[in-house]
Amino acid sequence: MNNRCIFCLKKTACSTEHIIPESIGGSMTIKSVCVNCNSQIGSNIDGPFINSFYVSLQRSAFDIKGKSGGVPKPFGGVGLTTEGCKVRLDDDLTPIVLPSVEETNTADGGILLKMVFDKSDESCLSKEGLKKVSRTLKKMYPDMADVEIKSKAESILEKAYKQMIESTSSATCKYQFTIDIAVMRLEYIKIAYEIAFYLFGYDYVEQSSTALTLRQAVNEHQTEPLVQVTLSPDRMNELFPESDNHIVVVLNGNAYVRLFGLPALVLFEESDARFMCPVDKARVFSFNFKDRTYTEESFALG
Ligand SMILES: [Zn+2]
Repeated sequence: MNNRCIFCLKKTACSTEHIIPESIGGSMTIKSVCVNCNSQIGSNIDGPFINSFYVSLQRSAFDIKGKSGGVPKPFGGVGLTTEGCKVRLDDDLTPIVLPSVEETNTADGGILLKMVFDKSDESCLSKEGLKKVSRTLKKMYPDMADVEIKSKAESILEKAYKQMIESTSSATCKYQFTIDIAVMRLEYIKIAYEIAFYLFGYDYVEQSSTALTLRQAVNEHQTEPLVQVTLSPDRMNELFPESDNHIVVVLNGNAYVRLFGLPALVLFEESDARFMCPVDKARVFSFNFKDRTYTEESFALG
């Protein structure tokens, strides 16, 4: 379908753009963004926002599946036990010790192998351990036949198994939690601009000077110092309590956007009353991210 793209303003084939990204449960769409701009928005604006730690954490907590059907796992990476063993977290946040084999030379010319593995993964000892012990034996006895090395390695492991020490030390995984304000600002600006277009159409896109500023911010993914974005919850949290929803409230020339409880106010129209919602006719959009529905209503906030 040929339409005018609200970002590059070219009349060209347009695709479906989700005002609130689909991956965080948005279902409201506009069909006025060209394929190219849509993909730019995906990689420069929606993508970084959706993949941020905070949003991944929320999607994981609320089990919100992305386009590919998966829920992100915010707790990747590796932690340490109090004894210095590496651990990773499985899906239900149980620490799993990562297998390791440490080789040291002893004073009497021998080799000491220290093997660490998770109790839930005993096959690891036979697989990884056998490999490592065989390799060490091969180094010590280069002329020994492979069959012999294998049987010697097996008997060493058998003895080691009997002397195994079970450790119950606790594990600590450290995760850094940051909110990149620039990433947030761009997402919220994009949403405010698209909502303003949804409400006021191409007149807003073509005639509002503030629209031009917002569009430039999205196109160049640059928000400083052009767009007024205030990180302030003000009265909105009282009026619209937080539940399984994202909220966009359009009041005068401002869009109050709250995604997963993170609020911001974006100025999308400074002076032209045609592109504003007066206090007795504020527009309220509520997006339920659990069942992917949304409602739109007028609201008197006076
Ligand atoms: Zn475009």
